[in-house]
Amino acid sequence: MIKAVFLDRDGTIVNEPTGPNKGDDAITSISQLKVLPHAIDGMKKMIELGYTLFIASNQDCINRGQITMKEYDQQNKVLITVFTENNIKIEKWLVCPHTPEENCECRKPKTEMIDSIKNDYQIDFENSYYIGDRETDILLAKNLKLKSILVKRNEEYYINTNIVPDFKAENLVEASKFIKSLKGN
Ligand SMILES: [Mg+2]
Ligand SMILES: [Zn+2]
Repeated sequence: MIKAVFLDRDGTIVNEPTGPNKGDDAITSISQLKVLPHAIDGMKKMIELGYTLFIASNQDCINRGQITMKEYDQQNKVLITVFTENNIKIEKWLVCPHTPEENCECRKPKTEMIDSIKNDYQIDFENSYYIGDRETDILLAKNLKLKSILVKRNEEYYINTNIVPDFKAENLVEASKFIKSLKGN
């Protein structure tokens, strides 16, 4: 069994562009791709603690035609270069390209993105985490019985008060400290 940390991408690892929706906009060009402060250190720490990292991202901008899947992969290649320089390995990049109207089974908070890797990885869900900046991330964690950590997006927590994450963290370094404290070493 492996312990995993599943991470959201936009607003969690990279900056979500601030547009008319107040930081609720798709990344449509590589120039908008900015790794958030603390993201590298936080992910490094999680790996040191023995966790395998996965990224699971809703990208409805793909099926809305704002970017192609190929462009999304190119964005991730840039990130992989930065991560590799820092000895960070992302085991698998998972993506849902669908719009809510398409009613797929993989758009968070539905579980298909993560269910799809269950045959390839024996994951200790109870001792694994989902970290994200939206309530859909927290709901996904709850649907999978993962521990949930909400991080700030653009300096604020965005969540409906009736959805309670296991922990709220300023950034991924603080999240890694919480994971360490629960691990007890
Ligand atoms: Mg996000
Ligand atoms: Zn989907």
